[in-house]
Amino acid sequence: MSHKHAMFILYGIIAGVVAGGFTGWHFGEGAVKVKWIGDLFLDALKMTIVPLVITSIISGIASLGDIRRLGKLGGITLAYYFSTTFIAVAIGLVFVNIIQPGAGLQLSTAHLPDTVAANENAGIGHIFQTMISPNLFDAAAHTKILPIILFSIMFAAALTMLGKPGEVVVSFFDGANKAMLKLIGWIMYMAPIGIFSLVAYRLGKEGGGEAFMNEITAVGWHVATVISGLATHFVFLLMVMFFVAGQGWGYLVGMLRALLTAFGTASSSATLPITMECVRENNINERAARFTLPLGSTINMDGTALYEAAAAMFIAQAYGIELGISAQIIVFITATLAAIGAAGIPEAGLVTMIIVLNAVGLPLEGIGILLAVDWFLDRFRTTINVWGDAVGAAVAHRFMPNDRDAQS
Ligand code: ASP
Repeated sequence: MSHKHAMFILYGIIAGVVAGGFTGWHFGEGAVKVKWIGDLFLDALKMTIVPLVITSIISGIASLGDIRRLGKLGGITLAYYFSTTFIAVAIGLVFVNIIQPGAGLQLSTAHLPDTVAANENAGIGHIFQTMISPNLFDAAAHTKILPIILFSIMFAAALTMLGKPGEVVVSFFDGANKAMLKLIGWIMYMAPIGIFSLVAYRLGKEGGGEAFMNEITAVGWHVATVISGLATHFVFLLMVMFFVAGQGWGYLVGMLRALLTAFGTASSSATLPITMECVRENNINERAARFTLPLGSTINMDGTALYEAAAAMFIAQAYGIELGISAQIIVFITATLAAIGAAGIPEAGLVTMIIVLNAVGLPLEGIGILLAVDWFLDRFRTTINVWGDAVGAAVAHRFMPNDRDAQS
């Protein structure tokens, strides 16, 4: 996509977010009528996720040539993912301890939502189980990305060892990947109107501006804690980008379409096609991006990790349960795991938070008070999740200098 078209779409998306917010605020439930347009856009994006992930990873990894380079790329990527996620959780804990958003709150014992109640047994072992699926088609049908990623990595590694017959298959996936990127470029033209409708619908569903403000003020300190924590992490990632990845402001501007789409869809997975397109346009090494971005969209969730820690502590404070240093260390570890285990779909973090609450014996009913504003905070944490992935791709690019000239 040319720079002119990309900027045109960016302005369209900004207008879509503003107009969507205005429509949902003023028309309340009436704005729900535009939902179908947003669904069309989301479905079009989701349609591309599985073929995009498979073709990107296979062509990306196979083109690394030497399988040892995968080890290097994997090492850099995982080191970045873990270190930034740890910092995000630490920021969440510091903010929640300073602001004490739940102190003095009177809890109502709200009912658990069905999705959460059905997952009460979710545990750490479950996270590992989600990595392998006995049936790849089932995983694809349910957009379970992690098993598909793992399979694609192993398949690509096998291809690189086959010599000539392997090359034919790699060039097939390479062509298929290029076709997917073209198709995503077309879908992007739908983004402004799609995001308009997603924002208008979600705000309208809450009953419009006044009802929304009431919800926000009920747990205002919690909202303030999470948003200021996320803003701090955003600045931290900016610094990583400047100092470690060696990128400038242009990279942030170039990623805006993806960040606003993340805000509009509240889904890292649905945003993935657009994240890849933006990263590519910013001249990031494609081999690095094709590996790091699909993986990042499902396991690297800084915003979610920060949220899980802050929300769990908020619940403890609201119930008047004192959590000392050792309990907070457990929150630190489990919030990281819960974020890794969360799928890149709307409000997935709320479900995996059970892991954190169970680990320190907090009442699951506490999730009830977070529900009213979770959809709103989800948009901010998803934006940080996607930004974290984009910076991760830039870091991987920085440490793979030999590849820069050999882009496909
Ligand atoms: N919606 C988030 C994402 O897709 C996950 C979550 O925190 O609920 O990245």
